[in-house]
Amino acid sequence: MSLTIEHLTKSYGANIAVNDISFRIDSGEVVGFLGPNGAGKSTTMKIITGCISADSGTVLINGTDIATGGTALKHAIGYLPENNPLYLNMYVREYLEYAAMMYMPQSETLSAVNYAVDAVGLGEHQYKKIGELSKGYRQRTGIARAMVHNPEILILDEPTTGLDPNQIVEIRNLIKELGKEKTVILSTHIMQEAEAVCNRAIIIRKGTIVADDTLAALKAHNTRRTIIVEFDQDIDPKKLSAIPGIDNVEGAGRQWQLTVSGDDTEARRAVFQFAAQNNIPLLELRRENSSLENIFHELTF
Ligand code: ADP
Repeated sequence: MSLTIEHLTKSYGANIAVNDISFRIDSGEVVGFLGPNGAGKSTTMKIITGCISADSGTVLINGTDIATGGTALKHAIGYLPENNPLYLNMYVREYLEYAAMMYMPQSETLSAVNYAVDAVGLGEHQYKKIGELSKGYRQRTGIARAMVHNPEILILDEPTTGLDPNQIVEIRNLIKELGKEKTVILSTHIMQEAEAVCNRAIIIRKGTIVADDTLAALKAHNTRRTIIVEFDQDIDPKKLSAIPGIDNVEGAGRQWQLTVSGDDTEARRAVFQFAAQNNIPLLELRRENSSLENIFHELTF
């Protein structure tokens, strides 16, 4: 099932939140919708899910405009809004059944709830009150609600915000699992999240798409590299800036991140020579593997 966005624009008063964006997502993709806070991610997701309307532009599912395609077409989408609003006084199954009833006759809700409980691994907690659940399981409940009608496309707005590191790993693994069967779009402002879960990233800045590619291709296009270096004593950053090939210096004391344009091998050699000439032992000198943070920074700053 494909989702196509064509020339979507949305303003709030004079503020253009989403400015003429277009993209297409096909079956089986897990796409990260990335951008800093305020970039327009939630607004785009709300438009796709029909929560708000766009000023102009269209959302197509399998080529049919969602605005005129009828209810069945809208049911192809499941949506986890930002901050996962839940009724804390309801029981998990009761809440999911309530959600299911919006999509189907009551006779079908039992199997729908069983499906959703199973899909997100809520089994052990399905008879508890939502308010008694940990944040991680509340998040699973929100995702179960989003998919209780078995939609083909799942739209998850900042699904790991507010979770602890273990819960983040669990929810990312769950999303990866769900991505085997569904088309998933998740928004995040964390590049590592996209790296952990997605095969493609759409990066948005101030309402405009600034990159749309596979993570591998985005990394390959990046010409900036970061060198991580630790000396055995405090170093004056001015001396590091003077090393040939170093564009930017960040850090303090003994530990530094040096940014380089183009080939970093020469620059690492120069850092080694600087340390040797000044008789300063080097404790660490390496190229940072993940260049995605750099790309995100370059494209969205
Ligand atoms: P993101 O999800 O990337 O953080 P949003 O889509 O929430 O970004 O916001 C995009 C822009 O639209 C921001 O400048 C934000 O302040 C503005 N905005 C979002 N929702 C509203 C609203 N309901 N009323 C007015 N401005 C809004």
